[in-house]
Amino acid sequence: PSLEYELLRRRIESNVGEIWNYFSSELGKLRKRATPTQAELTQDINQVLQLGAEHKRSLLNDIDRLRQVDGYEAWRRQEARDLSDLMQRRLHYLQNPKDCANARKLVCKLNKGCGYGCQLHHVVYCFIVAYATERTMILKSRGWRYHKGGWEEVFLPVSETCLDADAAHASNWPGRHDMPVLVLPIIDSLMPRPPFLPLAIPEDLAPRLRRLHGDPIVWWIGQFLKYLLRPQKGTLEFLETGRAKLGFKKPIVGVHVRRTDKVGTEAAFHRIEEYMTHVEDYFLTLEINGTIVPRRIFLASDDARVIEEARNKYPQYEIIGDPEVARMAAVSTRYTDTALNGIILDIHLLSLSDYLVCTFSSQVCRMAYEIMQTLYPNAAHRFKSLDDIYYYGGQNSHNRQVVIGHAARNQFEIHMKPGDLVGVAGNHWDGYSKGQNTRTKQAGLFPSFKVVDKVETVKLPLYEQAQQ
Ligand code: GDP
Repeated sequence: PSLEYELLRRRIESNVGEIWNYFSSELGKLRKRATPTQAELTQDINQVLQLGAEHKRSLLNDIDRLRQVDGYEAWRRQEARDLSDLMQRRLHYLQNPKDCANARKLVCKLNKGCGYGCQLHHVVYCFIVAYATERTMILKSRGWRYHKGGWEEVFLPVSETCLDADAAHASNWPGRHDMPVLVLPIIDSLMPRPPFLPLAIPEDLAPRLRRLHGDPIVWWIGQFLKYLLRPQKGTLEFLETGRAKLGFKKPIVGVHVRRTDKVGTEAAFHRIEEYMTHVEDYFLTLEINGTIVPRRIFLASDDARVIEEARNKYPQYEIIGDPEVARMAAVSTRYTDTALNGIILDIHLLSLSDYLVCTFSSQVCRMAYEIMQTLYPNAAHRFKSLDDIYYYGGQNSHNRQVVIGHAARNQFEIHMKPGDLVGVAGNHWDGYSKGQNTRTKQAGLFPSFKVVDKVETVKLPLYEQAQQ
């Protein structure tokens, strides 16, 4: 298929979501304005919302079927396999230099003072820097807060041949190209900041990725995780028993409810009903042509009560989840072997789900979403976040390009001309996004459908020796 065709098909899909966000939100506002004596108006609005929702589901279902029958599915699957194989070969090549003693190295410490998702994202960032600077990544993980014995007892070592760096010759970032060993700080204190940090993807893969994938940066991150998370035998066995014990099977929606220490500090509280509205909507979209789909969710949380609450409130749902795992995720028991098994299993099962409903403010759900990309040619649309759009902690600015001009209609909106770049801060999921026009510096709201994502690319090594 042509690039234009794929971009258009995906743009229509996401804008069906946007037009529905817009109308349902505006109609909701109108309904609130109805006085108690206007019961009939309220009823009318409800009817419009009801049929409108059905209409939207029908459209989304049709667009998905269009993808299945347009004759390019076999190509998409093959292209996804080829690209992933290529990336995995490159990472393997980078991590297994023929002459380890003389290979240039980048040292990365796993034990950043934060949660599992945050630590893994830290390692992915190191790995990207390693890839961009052609250095073998050395992962220091002894005394890991989740598992004292270190990374290699849980996942395969990041190298088969080259696991140590000569500490005596270590220099700090940025150092020089010819220095044998560099030590990388956390992304927040990286100075200077290179252009290859997320959200940039490598220039050599960009044309293929833009055609294949709805959000190439998520694919790119997912490939590093795919390499990193190759399980040790014991971990693999644990994942398989865990999955079987819970009775995890498809179709299934993965729901992640992040509570405890996150609420009120880094994220807002969301009631289970908010998540379930989107879950139900997903199933109704699958069912639009009359097929009946069993209601099943996999529910992961750091608050065990959520699982019980959901089971009580949604008896028509099969709710797969382990309250014991959720209990161990509490801050006081979080950094233990049992809790580590729990979070690895939860992220694994979330990533295996058909669709994710969660808050992207949590690194747990973003990580599941990233891994999910390794399981489909394009899983960019398989999520509903109740808060943030996708981002990578410490990323460079995220821009969208204006494709339809906009004249601000009130003090909250911004002017936009086609071609303008808008630094996007977030999507309000009501038809509008928030951002700053980089040309005028004006900040505020703009209709989400009037922009397209700007995919940032950067020249990176080609790893030609890794082709075979
Ligand atoms: P964030 O704080 O939500 O952005 O994600 P982090 O991964 O950085 O830190 C949260 C930590 O809390 C996780 O790594 C887990 O240790 C724990 N946690 C949060 N949510 C869950 C969950 O759904 N299941 C399990 N097992 N642990 C969780």
